[in-house]
Formats: sequence, C-alpha cells, structure tokens
Amino acid sequence: MPPQSDIEGIIRAARLRVTRPRVAVLTAVHEHPHADTATILEASRAKLGEVSHQAVYDVLQALTDSGLVRRIQPSRSPARYEARVADNHHHIVCRDCGAVADVDCAIGSAPCLSPSEAHGFTVDEAEVIYWGRCPSCATPLNAQITAQQS
Ligand SMILES: [Zn+2]
Ligand SMILES: [Zn+2]
Repeated sequence: MPPQSDIEGIIRAARLRVTRPRVAVLTAVHEHPHADTATILEASRAKLGEVSHQAVYDVLQALTDSGLVRRIQPSRSPARYEARVADNHHHIVCRDCGAVADVDCAIGSAPCLSPSEAHGFTVDEAEVIYWGRCPSCATPLNAQITAQQS
C-alpha cells in the first residue's frame, strides 16, 4: 500500500489534478482490492468525512478513465475496482460468496492476448474470469448442506 505522497504522485503522473477526494478514493482502492462501490464509499467516508455517493462515483470514473483504476464486473456482481492495472491479470470468482482473487497470466508475456482468430482486430486486452468455489465455500460442511438440500 503506497504512502499518501506516492498516491498523490500517481495521480499527478496521470495528469489529473490532486484533490482530497481523489487521494482518498485511490487510497481506498489500493487498500481494498476488488472492492465494490459501497465498500469504497465507506472507506472514503472514513478518510474524508461526509462525501456523496455521486462524488465518489465521479472520482472512480475519472480514475478509471485515466487508467489508474481498473473496473471489473463479473456477471451477477456489482462493479468492482482495483489499482493493479495494465498487467493483463485475470480473476477467479467464487460462485457462492463472490470472493475475487487475482490470477497472473500463466506463461510468457500475456499469451491470452493471442486469440486463435482475431478477425482483423488489434487486441490490447484479454479479460478472463475463472469461476469456482473459494476454500471457505467449498468446505465439507457446505458440501454436506448442499447435498442435503438437493
Ligand atoms: Zn466463497
Ligand atoms: Zn485483480
């Protein structure tokens, strides 16, 4: 987690004006990887005091547009944000509780950027979501309950 001076530097390097809401929101995204808007709003309020949902949403939008924040949206999940950007990593999502973890590209330099057929497109990003169950949702107890219900 970078110190506040680094966060300000990161914002400045993206040619954005450094404002308290931007620093607070970007810090919150660094502190809570893959958090949804509600979590980031709560974390930003802890730093800024009262701040509107719209203000935080606007800052998230500006940070996403400038490439400082990446927005991911697994199906049936609210949008989530992370500060780990530009490395083409992927995500693994739990079907039961929605827990999200990072998955690096397995081999070489982003091999998933080479589709079998690119249809003439210039590809610059590949988004892969692995679905499954996280360790706490896949415990034998849960398996038992699921078995009893079915
Ligand atoms: Zn889970
Ligand atoms: Zn991630």
